[in-house]
Amino acid sequence: MKTAIWWVRRDLRLTDNQALVASAASAEQVVPVFVLDPALLAAPDVAEQRLAFLLEGLRALDADLRARGSRLVVRRGEPRDELARLLGDCSAHAIFAEEDNWPYAQRRDSGIARDLPLHLVSGLTVHRPDAVLKQDGTPYQVFTAFSRRWRRLPLPGPTLAAPRRLVTPASVVSLPIPAEPTLSRDVPFPPGEREARRRLTEFTNGEDAPIYRYGQERDQPGTEGTSRLSPYLRFGMLSARQAVAAALAAMDAAPDASAQQSAETWLQELVWREFYQAILFHFPQVLEQSFRPELRNVGWRDDEGDFAAWCAGHTGYPLVDAGMRQLAQTGWMHNRVRMLAASFLTKHLLIDWQRGERYFMQHLVDADPAANNGGWQWCAGTGTDAAPYFRIFNPVLQGKRFDPQGRYVRRWVPELADVPSTTVHQPWKMSQQEQRAAGCVIGRDYPSPIVDHRHARERALAAYRAARSDR
Ligand code: FAD
Repeated sequence: MKTAIWWVRRDLRLTDNQALVASAASAEQVVPVFVLDPALLAAPDVAEQRLAFLLEGLRALDADLRARGSRLVVRRGEPRDELARLLGDCSAHAIFAEEDNWPYAQRRDSGIARDLPLHLVSGLTVHRPDAVLKQDGTPYQVFTAFSRRWRRLPLPGPTLAAPRRLVTPASVVSLPIPAEPTLSRDVPFPPGEREARRRLTEFTNGEDAPIYRYGQERDQPGTEGTSRLSPYLRFGMLSARQAVAAALAAMDAAPDASAQQSAETWLQELVWREFYQAILFHFPQVLEQSFRPELRNVGWRDDEGDFAAWCAGHTGYPLVDAGMRQLAQTGWMHNRVRMLAASFLTKHLLIDWQRGERYFMQHLVDADPAANNGGWQWCAGTGTDAAPYFRIFNPVLQGKRFDPQGRYVRRWVPELADVPSTTVHQPWKMSQQEQRAAGCVIGRDYPSPIVDHRHARERALAAYRAARSDR
């Protein structure tokens, strides 16, 4: 019987999986394999909880495969060597895998394709990066223009059903899926394709679906107003096309114009994801340096104390601290707060965005090199479509605007639980008496701000201006 290998990388799903469908179409037997790559497992930016999410995701995938008569084969080692060995073990004629835009993956895959019959198939994004180009064939560098073009392209076919049965030869040897590290109970993301689909349905189905309130609620970190699908999209437990198809269906079924607009706003976020994937594909150097040449030499500060305070959520600015503590505890942070925390590190503390980018990689369960880099460069003002460098968030005003009752900060910074709403975003404004009454003495129970907003703003503007005029 003819055999094909389905090389699973960041596409841990059976539904709408073009690599799996291509494998099954090319042979009677399919060997699904995941290769534990020591270079990735030991990488300095690996996050323990992201790895745990992946390993549990592999267990869920294995269970789903077993329900169809197959199973997941696990190997450990350099992918090229392991795939060559596996090809020999099962006499397979081809290997199918989903494309990946990450430079490491691109180098790995082109090296393997030189020696082995590797076929790359699309699926990481709805439209491949080289399908969304300007008329002159060059890549977009501005989101709105990219989005306009992207929206005009037809969806590449309907989503694909999971195969009912898969035949996998019993003789192929597999390692057990590692038991460690384990996923912390504080990480609110049960891995697996079924959970991903459940969340998507809950978010997009029915007249009352949260997608129809997304426009109003997505910026309120104290409300669960977003889909919380990012870890599932990161590991392909849900395909981008499934998410986009659900958004389009919700737009069609919207009960009124404002609900439709909300669903459209969510679709735009999925397009942001595609945009940053395209940027990484066309401009891989963004992982090493600022996209904007004029901002490659900002005089960043190397202040270890300030960096440690930011990481620990002890800056004295409640919304920043709440976000950093949510990240440390759960492996996830609300988007509005990611923006503020990143802006605070780069502008208020004038610390290199690359240090923040790495810290997020080391802690986010959804960390994705393309989206994370895009987010950091946007916030630092150094990226493609960046917020201008002189727009500097005021952390107190952001708090008052997006968390007016302080629900979010009280949850993640329990020292502030009894601080009145009027001062919860600037607790240092409480009188001594108010501090005692709230059980939060500034400097003892909660830090005073590590930097003054006005001073920090001026310092950042001066540093950015100097970098621009140096050229
Ligand atoms: P929803 O609001 O429900 O959006 C749906 C999906 O759209 C998300 O799951 C995500 O896949 C995509 N998306 C939404 N916003 C963005 C965006 N701005 N850029 C790219 N894709 C987006 N997102 C990641 O997936 N991985 C990261 O490593 C990451 N790092 C970030 C770092 C910074 C500094 C910033 C400002 C943003 C970052 N984001 C990242 C984008 C965004 O914060 C998360 O995608 C979002 O918070 C995930 O929550 P959700 O699934 O509820 O999103």
